[in-house]
Amino acid sequence: MPDLLSLEEALACILERSKPLSSEIVPLERVVGRVVAEPALARADLPPFPSSAMDGFAVRGVETPGTLPIALRVAAGSPSSGRLERGSAAAIATGGSVPEGADTIVPVEQVVEENGHVRIAEPARADAHIRPRGGDVREGEVVLPAGVRIGPAQIGALAAAGVAEVRCFRRPRVSVLATGSELRAPGETLAPGQIFESNRATIAAVLDASGAEVDLLPVVRDDESAHRDALERALAADVLVSSGGVSMGPHDLVRRVAGELGVEEIFWGVAVKPGKPLSFGIREDTLAFGLPGNPVSALVGALVFVRPALLALQGLSDPRPRFQVGRIEIAVRRNEHRDEFIRARLAVDERGVVLEPVTGQESHMIVRAAAADALLHVPRGAGEIATGDPVRYLDLS
Ligand code: AMP
Ligand code: MG
Repeated sequence: MPDLLSLEEALACILERSKPLSSEIVPLERVVGRVVAEPALARADLPPFPSSAMDGFAVRGVETPGTLPIALRVAAGSPSSGRLERGSAAAIATGGSVPEGADTIVPVEQVVEENGHVRIAEPARADAHIRPRGGDVREGEVVLPAGVRIGPAQIGALAAAGVAEVRCFRRPRVSVLATGSELRAPGETLAPGQIFESNRATIAAVLDASGAEVDLLPVVRDDESAHRDALERALAADVLVSSGGVSMGPHDLVRRVAGELGVEEIFWGVAVKPGKPLSFGIREDTLAFGLPGNPVSALVGALVFVRPALLALQGLSDPRPRFQVGRIEIAVRRNEHRDEFIRARLAVDERGVVLEPVTGQESHMIVRAAAADALLHVPRGAGEIATGDPVRYLDLS
């Protein structure tokens, strides 16, 4: 294997070649998970009118304390509440349009209402409990800038600002295939030497959570013509993710066959454990990731390298892995040559996040990995990370 790229170098190589795809108009009902391609602008002031934040009485502050006749009753949705005459009060519901002339709301809890009058004992401060028109956003202002991924708060903001459709980047179409003559589908019976195929499901789950449209292709036997057919088909997508067949064995055919099909290999081998023999190439506009077959290597490769590419293709402003910081529960020795990704359980104590590596860190141990909430990043180097030291991690939830 030639010189291995560092984690940062490999990511830079990938992101450099992962430019945003074209964009399309998406209706509000379908924008969750999508990335904004053109700033979404407010269609109205929000709130659209000065509105009451409380159930209570709209009055002029200078006329309090005092007892005022109730001249108006304003419900939420009342078209126009008119003008509040001097020396009177308007009963108003939360969300009601504050009548002109009133400059404060006295909450219903602070008054006594009797015989069509409201008795207010304390002086009311001007502007209290009034949500000014446009206080959240003004008509024509940016609700969401380009590059933002739309989640629950963002779709709520769009809806509240009257935005019915958004220009979003297209979702990448990704073909997923697994190579290996030993692989059987879960539910089938294993013959001697066979194992259940798990990587397509793992990879598809990562891709799905990264906004891709996933096309799962059948398992590919370890022979050249099967590889050729499957890879050619998969290369029609925006991204091809394969598992297995990228090491040095006689049955590792993915890189060679991909090369024959016109894929230019950008790199092979990253200084990362697990997942060293990862390959990355391009053919025209298609990115091709060859993940190693060991199930934990495939998971780590998909999370650390493929996901950022997919987010970049969708135009996300920062597609890089989003590391958080916690403390490590027990010391871990650093690997001199490779950055390691260690599966860990996450707990929270009074000082923050504590990470405890799970037992069983070998790259075939996907069931052990399933007990983890976090992927710890241990940068290569000498010595150890001592108990209680800060470490970066990716949240696996
Ligand atoms: P490979 O990278 O093809 O040499 O595979 C490395 C190891 O991962 C071997 O033990 C394979 O049997 C196993 N493996 C490869 N592909 C899969 C898969 N899709 N699901 C589960 N295990 C796999
Ligand atoms: Mg194999």
